[in-house]
Amino acid sequence: MSIVADIIESTRAIIKGMGVTFSKIPQEKWTVQYPDEPVTLQPRFRGQHLLHVDELGREKCVACFLCAAACPSDCIYIVAADDPRPPEERTGVDERYAKVYNIDYGRCIFCGYCVEACPKDAITHGFNFELSVYNRADLLKTKDDLLITKQKQSKNYRVAFSDEEVDSEYKVV
Ligand code: SF4
Ligand code: SF4
Repeated sequence: MSIVADIIESTRAIIKGMGVTFSKIPQEKWTVQYPDEPVTLQPRFRGQHLLHVDELGREKCVACFLCAAACPSDCIYIVAADDPRPPEERTGVDERYAKVYNIDYGRCIFCGYCVEACPKDAITHGFNFELSVYNRADLLKTKDDLLITKQKQSKNYRVAFSDEEVDSEYKVV
């Protein structure tokens, strides 16, 4: 290709690119002043995991390791234990429970396979998205960080209605 053809091709590409840029300028920006204003999350959002409990407050996890086996990042660490006390006094719904349940968010890719693998609905994704830390070691979350009864939630968010448009970065003018 000649130099002239190269220049024409490049100029055309630049004009096309700048056309997209300039077409966005008049549009209203959809900037959310978080945390003063709530951010809107989609119902399908996958935030920090929640470990669930039953109506008596007993942990639903029975330490079957299926979530850990399904995890492609190998970031779930479980230590199983037996709780021989009567059912109403147990830590979990079953005699077997997770004495240790850790997720390393330095490795987690939020794929949701652990949630799909769980036969007890003991783990789901919550909406907590404030996971930034200054020390990588702090990305390791323990059972106390994950239990629904103990997890500290992000402060200001709302979950969108299922038919609400929140994906677009700009509102249409
Ligand atoms: S979301 Fe995916 S990567 Fe994260 S713990 Fe679950 S299975 Fe592992
Ligand atoms: S969270 Fe579910 S899949 Fe994972 S060990 Fe507990 S019961 Fe099994």
